[in-house]
This record gives sequence, C-alpha cells and structure tokens, in this order.
Amino acid sequence: MNHLVPCLSFVVGFWTGGISQNSTWMTEQHDHFRIFFQANDRPDIPDYLVMISQGIQQTSAFFHEPFSQPFDVYIHPNRLSLDSTWQSDWGMPEFQSECWMVASGVAAKLDLMAPRTWDSLACEHRYDDSLSTQQLITHELVHVFHGQHHPSPDFSTINGIDWLIEGMAVFVSGQCDPSRMVAVKEALRENNLPGHLADFWSGKLRYGLSGSMVMYLDHRYGRDQLYRMLAITDLTSLLSELGTTEPKLLEEWRKYMEQM
Ligand SMILES: [Zn+2]
Repeated sequence: MNHLVPCLSFVVGFWTGGISQNSTWMTEQHDHFRIFFQANDRPDIPDYLVMISQGIQQTSAFFHEPFSQPFDVYIHPNRLSLDSTWQSDWGMPEFQSECWMVASGVAAKLDLMAPRTWDSLACEHRYDDSLSTQQLITHELVHVFHGQHHPSPDFSTINGIDWLIEGMAVFVSGQCDPSRMVAVKEALRENNLPGHLADFWSGKLRYGLSGSMVMYLDHRYGRDQLYRMLAITDLTSLLSELGTTEPKLLEEWRKYMEQM
C-alpha cells in the first residue's frame, strides 16, 4: 500500500505501441499496464514482465475479477530513485527508506526497485529466491487491485485496518507459508500475541498475523464477502459488516489457528 501522486520529473513520451524514450525513462505499453524503466534495466525487463503477468493472473483469479483500471509499473534503477519517488508521492521530503523496503503499490501505480539490485541494495530479499520474489511482486499487485476497489485509492484515509490491507496482500500472494504459520501458532501457544487487531501489522510476526487473519476471514465468510471487504475503510465498518466484535473475531481466529 502507501500513497501516490505524481512521480519524479519525467515526461511521458509519445508512443505508438512500441517503446518510447524520454530523457531517462523508457516506456512499454502492455495489457493492463505501462512499464517504465531505465536503460540499464532493459535486459531484465522480460523476466520482470513474466512475474508481473503471473501476479496479475493470480490476483484476478483469486477474486474472480480483472483489474478494473490500467496502472503504471516503475522499475527503479536504485534506492535513490525509489526514495525520491516516495518522498514526492508521500509529501515527506526527508524520507529515507529502510533496507528491506523495495516496493509499494496503490491503485494507479506499482513502484519496484529493480529486483536485480536487491542483493546489493536491499536486505531480507534475494533476487534468486524466485518464489519469494514472485510473491513480493504479487503482494504489491494485490495492493494495486485493492486500491482500485477502495474509496481511497492510495489508502490514505483508512482507520484501524492496516492489517486487513497488508493481510489481503500477504494471503493472496501466497506469503502465508508454513514457516510463518508455525511461528504464529507458537506465539499463540505462548500466549504472546497482540490483543488488538490494530497491532497485527507490527513486529516480526506481522506477515503471519495479518495474513492468517485474512485467511480466516476467507475461510469463515467466503470469497464473495472477502471481495466486498476490499471497499472497507475502517475497523468499525468491518465489524458491523461481519456482525461481530473485535474480541469475538480474535477468539474465533485463535480457535481456527489452533486447529490448523
Ligand atoms: Zn504490503
């Protein structure tokens, strides 16, 4: 997730279906999206396109719905490029990303530090871990899809549902892997988990906690209801829609996880 608005200072060139180039960015038009990249990344673009297409297919198949709007994908050549975009988009001129931050997604745009650079410019991510790389790209595409079905396309006006937005991306992308689920179950056994949903997207278990809660919602309420949850903006509305309370939801999720 995160926020959007204009990006860097570039001029979109005119193109007629092929590649166009302005001062720094080259552009290709594809089904559903345009991809922007710089010259050094051009040799890797075909590999990135395969993963982006796979992520689009996986997300659309999960929700039984296509992406509703076209969007842009930026392949940033380095962290400086990614940071300057986020500084501009988020109105935070001093922002410096953490080493594990490599991508963001909102309704109109996916920003991605070129995966080829992760080994040298990022921590916690390796380009040659192809499954994790695919899942990360799919995760951001779920945010794009989510933003296209949300009243706040850049998620700037959500309240108490960070865990839902992140959990949706974690679950749909396949990041609820066995190791993350085992870690959550262990924490459950030790009674060492947050008592409020607002704290699910925090700490080292945030992927497992948020993802497993969305997994539970999908299991308990069904895919159609999960699809409708994409438009939810705040926790009170979510609980009302589900006809439950936060303590009850947490207790049912706990039982579900214990039986997994
Ligand atoms: Zn995310």
